[in-house]
Amino acid sequence: MEIKQHERLHRDDKNLCKLAISELEDIYSDLGLSIEELDLLDMPRRSFSVHFPVRMDDGKTKMFVGHRVQYNDARGPTKGGIRFHPQLTHDDVEDLAFLMSLKCAVVNIPFGGSKGGVVVNPKEISRGELERVTRSYIQAISDYIGPFKDIPAPDVYTDEKIMVWILDEYERIKGEHVPALVTGKPIELGGSKARSYSTSLGGIYILEEAMRKIDLDKFEVCLAVQGFGNVGENAARLLHEKGYKVIAVSDSKGGIINQDGLDIPAVMKHKDLTESVVDFAGSTNITNEELLTCGCDILIPAALSDQLTRKNAADVEAKVVLELANAPTTKDADDIFFDKKIMLIPDVLANAGGVVVSYFEWSQNLTNDYWEEARVLERLKKTMITAFNDVYALCDKENCRMRQSAYKLALQRILHAEKLRGNL
Ligand code: NAD
Repeated sequence: MEIKQHERLHRDDKNLCKLAISELEDIYSDLGLSIEELDLLDMPRRSFSVHFPVRMDDGKTKMFVGHRVQYNDARGPTKGGIRFHPQLTHDDVEDLAFLMSLKCAVVNIPFGGSKGGVVVNPKEISRGELERVTRSYIQAISDYIGPFKDIPAPDVYTDEKIMVWILDEYERIKGEHVPALVTGKPIELGGSKARSYSTSLGGIYILEEAMRKIDLDKFEVCLAVQGFGNVGENAARLLHEKGYKVIAVSDSKGGIINQDGLDIPAVMKHKDLTESVVDFAGSTNITNEELLTCGCDILIPAALSDQLTRKNAADVEAKVVLELANAPTTKDADDIFFDKKIMLIPDVLANAGGVVVSYFEWSQNLTNDYWEEARVLERLKKTMITAFNDVYALCDKENCRMRQSAYKLALQRILHAEKLRGNL
């Protein structure tokens, strides 16, 4: 993967934190939280940094810094990715750990939220050095992670290969097999089927439930997807396989449109050959801005943050916006959509399919009973639809934006668990 992409994802997450935190201030006052409740939500349960030496290829030793924040564990062991990034700060990690607590609570899986990482640019070190950095970080934090304490996963700049080093180092320290320590593993070492496209499919299950609510017929709607990476391409492919008409897609170089529907498998081949969807035969080139206001019924931002703003929200004609990207809509645009009665399904719910399948991976590891793909999909569908209906019901009752009801629901679930434990 290109370093540029990861830098972008990192920026997206910063926007996500900014947006969520500004939203939360209103929600706290709406919920009328007590000082004790606010204090409890304001502070992570465990938050630490470690410094560790790594022998570099030139024989010299270099010190690295790593962070881990376990924000709230009232609902279960904390769960959250490990990122390797040269600009990683402890504050970023803390915000992201809080958001993970909310995301797990929205989809009602029995996890709290955490996040961690090492300040390093993996592009500037060798594979051997990367492995030693990973193993040394795990040695430094091994007492504080575990299948019933805190479960890491991939994040920016970390992948399946790094998850294997994490697992192997932890198992060497403990002297036993512990596959449920970490998720995002290869299938051969306990990974789950369907994980690679779970974020996109989870979003589509929610979309179909939303369409039922507002009487949109699958064969009468047309869709546009912004972004053609892991999430966008899988979303377009799965929608096409299900018989939906995807009329427009885009990537960083631009977009394409065909009002009769695009042949998505052919677009994927074209992208493999030319590295872009642009200039696909039988389609018209459009800009990314034009894609967002192209007159589709369902708009799926699956690329960058801050795409739907005060400037273009009034021109969006879609009836549903499904946020597969993190923070693609600004608060102004969210308000405009609410006034226009456009249903916006927020990122914290729409793109949670990945963490749901991580929960299934952990669960399969603990029981040593590995599921067929069909079972993973069935459970994913059930979890996502239930979460959508929970959020939708609250939204309906309180006549608020769906992002607000998702956060409210998550906070209520976390606080309820704290009360049951006697902490409030
Ligand atoms: P990716 O890097 O695989 O793909 C990103 C896509 O966006 C690429 O096709 C790229 O060409 C395109 N893009 C870049 N600049 C663009 C622009 N200006 N206009 C339109 N398209 C542009 O990333 P991804 O994993 O698919 O993630 C996409 C979004 O989904 C991010 O916001 C990410 O945080 C979020 N997300 C991803 C996952 C996951 O499981 N991968 C889970 C939750 C949320």
